[in-house]
Amino acid sequence: SGVGGLWPAQVTVDLDAIRHNVQVLRERAGGAELMAVVKADAYGHGLVPAARAALAGGACALGVAQPSEALALRAAGIRAPVLTWLVVPGTGLRPLLDADVEVAVSEPRLLDELAATARAVGRPATVQLKADTGLARNGAYALRVRPADPRTDWVALVDRAARLQAEGAVRVRGVFSHFAYADAPEHPTVRAQQEVFADAVAVAERAGLPLEVRHLSNSAATLTNPSATWDMVRPGLAVFGLSPVPDVGSAASFDLRPAMRVTARVAVAKRIPAGQGVSYGHTYTPARETTVVDVPLGYADGVPRHASGTGPVQVGGRRFRVSGRVCMDQFVVDVGDLDVAAGDEVVLFGAGGADEPTAQDWAEAAGTISYEIVTRFGPRVPRVYV
Ligand code: PLP
Repeated sequence: SGVGGLWPAQVTVDLDAIRHNVQVLRERAGGAELMAVVKADAYGHGLVPAARAALAGGACALGVAQPSEALALRAAGIRAPVLTWLVVPGTGLRPLLDADVEVAVSEPRLLDELAATARAVGRPATVQLKADTGLARNGAYALRVRPADPRTDWVALVDRAARLQAEGAVRVRGVFSHFAYADAPEHPTVRAQQEVFADAVAVAERAGLPLEVRHLSNSAATLTNPSATWDMVRPGLAVFGLSPVPDVGSAASFDLRPAMRVTARVAVAKRIPAGQGVSYGHTYTPARETTVVDVPLGYADGVPRHASGTGPVQVGGRRFRVSGRVCMDQFVVDVGDLDVAAGDEVVLFGAGGADEPTAQDWAEAAGTISYEIVTRFGPRVPRVYV
C-alpha cells in the first residue's frame, strides 16, 4: 500500500503519537477526563484508527460533529461514550438512540423529538445540553438578555430537560460549551465565557439535573487555561499533535507529537532552460537552467492552491518551495541542481525534525490554520498507520 504500491503519495499516521498526545493532555488537565474530538475523519487522520489510539491513550469519550460519524464509530465496535453535536431537528434520531449515542441539544425542539423517540424505543435518550456562553454558534443562549427567546434560551431548555428527565424520557449526562477566543487566552471574552458557563451549570444543577460531566476546554484552553477544565476537557487538534496557539507555543513546546506525515514520490524530474515559465499561468520562471520535479499531489488531494509559490517541501533532506501554481493533481518544485530522479521521496510535512516542514508551516504558507491543512487531505490519498 501507499508509497511503493499503486499510490504515488500517502498520509502516514503515527498512532503512537496520538496515544502520547492524549496522555500529555490528560496531565495538562490535572487528571480530568478527556473526550477526544475525532470529527472530520479525526481531523484527516482516519476516524476509527485515531479514535482507538485516543482511547488507548486514556481518552474516556469521543466527540464528533455529524451523527454519521458517531454511527461509524459504533459500527466499528467502539463502545466508549460518543457525543454528536450537530444533530438537526427533523432528521432521523432512532439510529442514534439504538446505537446509544449521546446527542448534544441546543434547543427544545430537538429535545422533544429525542424524548418522543425514546418513548418509542422504551429507553431514555442520553443528552448533553449545549450552552452558548458567547460564541453565538450552536447552543442555547446562556447570557442574560431580555426578552429571552424561548426557542433558544438556556433556562427554558434546562427546565424542559428537567421535566423530561423526571418523566424518564431523557437522561442529561452533561452540560458543555465552547470558547470563541480560546486561542487568545488573555482575551476578555475567555473569562466572561467561563463566568457565563459557571452560571449555566448552576442553573442546571438547581433544576435538579445530576450532571456527570461539565466541559468547556478545547485544545487551546486545555493547554493554556487550567481554570477552564471542570470535569473533562475536549481537545481535537492537540490530540493530533498540533499547536492551536502557534504564537504562544509550538507543538514541541507542549510536548505534542504531530501524528500526520504527508509524502509523495517524484513523478517526473527534468532539466528546463532559464526563462521557461512553470505550471499554469507561468507565475514562476527560473532565472537559470534548473531541475524541476513534478509532485503527484494537488488541490484535489488537499494541497492548498493558496500555497502556490509558498508551500514548503523537503527533497533529499533540503527545503524547497512549490514553484508556480498548485494544480488539481500535481505541483512543481524547482530543486536547482539537486540530483533527483522520478521515484524519489518528497516530504510535504511531518513531525518537523531535521528541518522537515510541518502542517503549521503549510498553514502559514497558505494563509490558514493547521486545522485546515490536515483535514483537507482527502480520500484519494491512502492513510498508512504506523
Ligand atoms: N468542541 C467543539 C464543540 C468543537 O466544535 C471542537 C472543534 O472545533 C472542539 C471541541 C475541539 O477543538 P480543538 O480542535 O480546537 O481542540
